[in-house]
Amino acid sequence: MARIVQILEQTVSLASGMNNAGINFQHMTASLVVMVSDVVRDGRPVVGVAFDSIGRYGHGALLRERFIPRIMAAHPDSYQADHGDGVDPFKLWEIMMANEKVGGHGERAGSVGILDAAAWDLQAKIEGKPLWGLLNERFPGAAQPGRTPIYASGGHYRPGVDASGLAEEILGYRRLGYDRFKIKAGGLPLEQDLERIEAVIQAIDGKASSLSIDFNAGLTLENADRSIAAVDAYGLAWIEEPVDPLDYQLLAQLAQQCTTALGAGENLFAYAEARNLVRYGGLRADKDYINIDISLSYGIVEYLRILDLMRSHGWQASSFVPHAGHLLSAHVAAGLGLGGHETAPSHALLGAYPDDYRVTDGYLHLSERPGSGVDAMPGLQPAIRDLLSSTLVS
Ligand code: MG
Repeated sequence: MARIVQILEQTVSLASGMNNAGINFQHMTASLVVMVSDVVRDGRPVVGVAFDSIGRYGHGALLRERFIPRIMAAHPDSYQADHGDGVDPFKLWEIMMANEKVGGHGERAGSVGILDAAAWDLQAKIEGKPLWGLLNERFPGAAQPGRTPIYASGGHYRPGVDASGLAEEILGYRRLGYDRFKIKAGGLPLEQDLERIEAVIQAIDGKASSLSIDFNAGLTLENADRSIAAVDAYGLAWIEEPVDPLDYQLLAQLAQQCTTALGAGENLFAYAEARNLVRYGGLRADKDYINIDISLSYGIVEYLRILDLMRSHGWQASSFVPHAGHLLSAHVAAGLGLGGHETAPSHALLGAYPDDYRVTDGYLHLSERPGSGVDAMPGLQPAIRDLLSSTLVS
């Protein structure tokens, strides 16, 4: 029997001077969650730790007022693992979603997602396995579990940084072991964006197929055709989120015109929204990428359902490259054999991996450390220490 005895959450600042085509990150926040169990290992309670994905702000109010109380009010029998010790994240998911109406996913999906992530981290630690190993055991299929293709995501618009400064940033990522890159687009007039793209292609020895660009939904009916035609000529790896995430018609129109792969889905948060994307977005299963963010989309439980849905429409796991540079996603990618993982190497909190992870030749090698590794991320150490100090663990 494993009992969840306490769940705490804390909002953490992710403020930075970055901009993309849509927003700046001056006031960005995220939630940190610690789920304390009564299972004891080495004399200490086992805790599940999870950190939000980036870009949608913290989820404190929903966590405190709705989802944490539901778990704490549930009888431990209702979320026990069927086999062996520990908790069942699928049962916890059902407990959290009791009396929630269909539709309207938004902020709720991220709140449930971070608690789902804490539950999986907790369960992996109780079983003494890395999360990627636990997932691969339950859902085998990855060709090389524990290893995943990775790319360096950056190239934001920063005051005073021109195209040559951008190229320098990308070369810095190459020195860290990355060989695939992504930069922002759509935040400047097209000609200036093309200068940025060309500067990076030149810096990486002309290998346009190692570079992706991300419009962050910045294109519209008025300018999408011209912008996409201009960047399509480069032979980039993919063009991400060109238009509003819910404008399936315009996305489908671009998919018809564009030979480069498209990426979409990072601002869709549920099975039903993924279903609309695959039904109406015109994406090509043999070419395009799905960037749905695991943590922001009700967590791993829902993501597994989305993978099944997409498989039934002819998609492969290798077409999935989750958004956000989130360590949870790295474990899912490495455990289920997804197409890759996004990392933001220059991000102050999320950029550095735990010291037993390695990035070499464009691949991330995850460690055998039990759990998701979130509590070993160097940038999160102060916030995690603070939150743990206020739990029953301290
Ligand atoms: Mg993106």
